[in-house]
Amino acid sequence: MNIPFLDLRRLNEPYLDAIADATRRVVYSGRYIGGDEVERFESSLADYCGVAHVAGVSNGLDALRLIIEGYKAIGRLRAGDEIIVPANTYIASILAITAAGLHPVLVEPSEDTLNIDSRLIEAAVTERTRAIMTVHLYGRTAWDDIMRDTALRHNLIVIEDNAQALGALSPTPGLNGGRHTGALGHAAAFSFYPTKNLGAMGDAGAVATDDAELAAAVRALANYGSDRRYHNIYQGYNCRMDPMQAAVLSAKLPGLDADNERRRAIAAIYDAEITRPDIILPAISDPAETIYHQYVIRIDGDRDRFRRLLADKGIGTDIHYAVPPHLQPCYAGRFGGPYPVTEKIARQAVSLPIAPYLSDDEAHYIASTINTCL
Ligand SMILES: *Cc1c(COP(=O)(O)O)cnc(C)c1O
Repeated sequence: MNIPFLDLRRLNEPYLDAIADATRRVVYSGRYIGGDEVERFESSLADYCGVAHVAGVSNGLDALRLIIEGYKAIGRLRAGDEIIVPANTYIASILAITAAGLHPVLVEPSEDTLNIDSRLIEAAVTERTRAIMTVHLYGRTAWDDIMRDTALRHNLIVIEDNAQALGALSPTPGLNGGRHTGALGHAAAFSFYPTKNLGAMGDAGAVATDDAELAAAVRALANYGSDRRYHNIYQGYNCRMDPMQAAVLSAKLPGLDADNERRRAIAAIYDAEITRPDIILPAISDPAETIYHQYVIRIDGDRDRFRRLLADKGIGTDIHYAVPPHLQPCYAGRFGGPYPVTEKIARQAVSLPIAPYLSDDEAHYIASTINTCL
């Protein structure tokens, strides 16, 4: 067998006709910036997650940055404020914080969930802490009673980095009672990067919030800072979502739940069939709680060799992420550390193929090859 880590063409093939119809519709609309197509996707996503406002934007990093800049614009955050964020996140979470002139305070993940260890948040709060950025890493919801209570006790803004978990639910209700990731805190950022569970044909992202004032600030900031035509209230950016991407996303959103269900089925095969004692599987959760953006195992041994042996059997793997943000050259030495749990995960993690197009046979083959390729 030959199973690349992720084949984007195979991923999108089931949507080919719907995507072709959608892109044709955009060409014939004659409207290539903003307009109905973007608004339609925004309201579908708002309905899906159960939030009042969604603003389509250029990508996930910009979505995160616009949330922080939006809160600055309406006087709720200031340069120099601290935001608590998991140390093992993808670097974009942290880039958004530093780009806006705020300070990330890194907190270690739990070795069980690989999400921020909510028991450690309280100790990281200082008099400058204004927000928690919770990251639903690998598609697993990062929200619980402890995080909720800590946020409420210290009056912290909760920002969700929901780039990886669209469609996941939380056992603990969000601040407004909702259960969908993207509707748990005060504002959420989404990415539709092509490899994400809902992927565009290029870059796209979104901001979701129930806060009308924040939503208006984000929309204005993403559109040159203008609240109406030729009237600029902020020194803004150009971070809009293209109607072409919105149309593609509208074509694919109806298939998201089935795709996520298929990912869970493949994960269940791995959970049941990978039995090597030197491999740690993802902790089992309530199935609704994770949509397996990645299926990340950890190997206590020679990771490079393990990946090479799998590659020899036609199985592609990847690493999310080999170098944590605090050890990247751009941040070297700035965030203290060490962060031993984060660094250990970075040394051990291997992502297995988990795309919804995989057949049961392919998943069985991957599991049995892992068990025997010693
Ligand atoms: C992908 C991703 C982002 C950034 O999204 P882009 O659309 O690629 O800018 C941010 N945070 C996390 C956790 C991500 O996985």
